[in-house]
Amino acid sequence: ERRQLHRLRREPSRTLDGVDIRLYANAESRGDVAEAHALGAAGVGLYRTEFLFLQRDGLPSEEEQFVAYRDVVLGMTGRTVTIRTLDIGADKADGSGLALPSEPNPALGVRGVRLALRRRDVFTTQLRAILRASGYGPLRILLPMVARREELLAARRLVREVGARLRREGHAVAENIPLGAMIEVPAAALALPALIDLVDFISIGTNDLVQYLLAADRGNDALHALHSPLHPAVIQLLHQVLSTARAHGRPAAVCGEMAGDAPFTPLLLALGLEEFSMHPGTLLEVRRAVRAHDLAALRRSAPALLRARDQAGIERWLATAGAGDN
Ligand code: PEP
Ligand code: MG
Repeated sequence: ERRQLHRLRREPSRTLDGVDIRLYANAESRGDVAEAHALGAAGVGLYRTEFLFLQRDGLPSEEEQFVAYRDVVLGMTGRTVTIRTLDIGADKADGSGLALPSEPNPALGVRGVRLALRRRDVFTTQLRAILRASGYGPLRILLPMVARREELLAARRLVREVGARLRREGHAVAENIPLGAMIEVPAAALALPALIDLVDFISIGTNDLVQYLLAADRGNDALHALHSPLHPAVIQLLHQVLSTARAHGRPAAVCGEMAGDAPFTPLLLALGLEEFSMHPGTLLEVRRAVRAHDLAALRRSAPALLRARDQAGIERWLATAGAGDN
């Protein structure tokens, strides 16, 4: 069983009817990057930069960050690397030199892009490091916790200014670096048609999207069963977001844990997902699931999935339409 899975390292992530699905890796260490490369990941779909900031004294310098990001780009040898800007706050506890005030409700607090835009010094240093790394291979920038147009406008402008400055200083910076948004705040998901002109791609963070949509703390064990993507509201919203992205020609991925849970692969394929990003440890299982399904058949059964009225109905769909060939 393990050996069979191991053999899939060199196989394409292709459905039975011949459609290639892109499987990216989530990464936060050198080991993850090496593993992602060895498993034939399409690239890094989510590089979590928080670990550079946590559990240390002071802040990482531009040089330290640049080396870290450049090494991810070099490690992926030409495959696209998606670097997410600092997402500290809530479940990503702050042990850093950011000296953040404590908040009564951190999950609804100054986190993600909200923090970045208030700490321009920290954000600018990080963007300088990321943009310098863009001279070494294909790279995209992903903003966490986006909820409003203003945040995207401010971030775009800062990326432009930092790029211009670096070029004046003589650094090689790639042209037109794609800038994307995590879709993990329900407002951004619902209002996506009003935001999408400001992003080059999106990545759906189901961990937080489920938490906020269902009002169920992702870290509370007592709510574990309630923090489930198999709620009709989550399925409808995923469908809506993916349809909007498709209609506007924007690449869309799911990078929450859901994407690495092979039993959910047929469901995400049915909803139209073509890019998954997951912990490298789950990539081969998801590849096996992709290879066991006929995409056209799954897409045809999407209306039945969208009609399910409760989790039991969605599970019944998974047990029948989603059963596939394995
Ligand atoms: C998510 O929220 O789904 C996500 C991928 O980001 P993180 O788990 O780092 O919050
Ligand atoms: Mg998140």
